[in-house]
Amino acid sequence: MDFRLNEEHEALRQSVREFARDVVAPVIAEHYERHTFPYDVVRQMGKMGLFGLPFPEEYGGMGGDYFALCLALEELARVDSSVAITLEAAISLGAMPIYRFGTAEQKERWLPKLVSGEALAGFGLTEPGFGSDAGGTATRAVLDGDEWVINGSKAFITNSGTDITALVTVTAVTGIRPDGSKELSTIIVPSGTPGFTVAPGYSKVGWCASDTHELTFDDCRVPAANLLGERGRGFAQFLRILDEGRIAIAALAVGLAQGCVDESIRYATQRQAFGQPIGNYQAIQFKIADMELRAHTARLAYYDAAARMLAGEDFKRQAAMAKLYASESAVDNAREATQIHGGYGFMNEFPVARFWRDSKILEIGEGTSEVQRMIIARDLGL
Ligand SMILES: Cc1cc2nc3c(=O)[nH]c(=O)nc-3n(C[C@H](O)[C@H](O)[C@H](O)COP(=O)(O)OP(=O)(O)OC[C@H]3O[C@@H](n4cnc5c(N)ncnc54)[C@H](O)[C@@H]3O)c2cc1C
Repeated sequence: MDFRLNEEHEALRQSVREFARDVVAPVIAEHYERHTFPYDVVRQMGKMGLFGLPFPEEYGGMGGDYFALCLALEELARVDSSVAITLEAAISLGAMPIYRFGTAEQKERWLPKLVSGEALAGFGLTEPGFGSDAGGTATRAVLDGDEWVINGSKAFITNSGTDITALVTVTAVTGIRPDGSKELSTIIVPSGTPGFTVAPGYSKVGWCASDTHELTFDDCRVPAANLLGERGRGFAQFLRILDEGRIAIAALAVGLAQGCVDESIRYATQRQAFGQPIGNYQAIQFKIADMELRAHTARLAYYDAAARMLAGEDFKRQAAMAKLYASESAVDNAREATQIHGGYGFMNEFPVARFWRDSKILEIGEGTSEVQRMIIARDLGL
């Protein structure tokens, strides 16, 4: 058993760490404040090959693995979560469904631009009326000749409305099975298709430099060939995508949790109270020790889930545990880091304020904490 990274993974971690420090950190606070999408940062991430990390070279990818993506997400989120979620959603929710389930033509058409970061894709599962209960999907798609006609709406879709968004994949009811249950399928809808409307961006509490929109489909017609994979496989497809995605979100949460440790050590060694640095007080030291403990333990949990996934083993429970523990650790660490910063922690100019605002969504997106507990309990036979 060896938890050390190999040379390639270590080099990747180091280069993303430097990128986050030198390219992301100087500009992200302003994007966050103004709620603007950091196109220039995304372009540079594309040049570094980050959007292609887990994809094969034949599509322009780096030929790495899903664990490499997780390492990159951890290092980005250690500095900023808007940029990290943009990469996570672009790969794990945007390009991955096409890579895993698409036809040869769909892969050839879409993957090279998504893998290079020149274009982004969104994943439209959640609806205004159905989130955790995604099987309840109300969006419908009816085959009319050689076109799907889509009607419905999707809520909170990441990367769906940037200037470089090329498509969204949309889950829709395509029929009713003999047992009365819904037949769900996934359909590719290119940006700009008539009848596909992207609402203005939400005003969010956190992830303020990331892109999130409500989408509506009003008699939106796309070719029948835009069906992703097999008809009726939509449910199984999104379960697979979410299982994997949870490992990536866990890595992102570990990055935020570790960023809170970094900022707290920095502040506690500088800030003086009662004649000495606050880091000399055991009450502060113990907070930071507990924060490091949570970040470390959560990291081991996502390493384990990723290792199982890469070994082709069942990883559902481990991914849910990693996502649950890492997101709750991120929230705890952000709260404690803010406390250590006192009043300054409540000021947006300090990174910990951003960490605090960005942490809460980690307990909600890609399956809430309650949903993770349901998955774990079910896997235990309950
Ligand atoms: C910024 C942001 C980005 C997002 N990006 C995307 C995206 O790109 N694509 C996408 O498809 N979705 C996206 N989402 C949606 C996200 O995945 C959902 O918000 C999440 O799954 C929860 O769904 P919901 O909001 O409908 O809450 P609900 O499902 O309505 O849940 C409300 C509450 O009830 C609880 N609950 C529900 N069912 C049960 C139960 N059986 N037992 C106990 N408690 C229960 C939940 O845990 C939660 O606490 C995004 C959301 C946000 C905020």
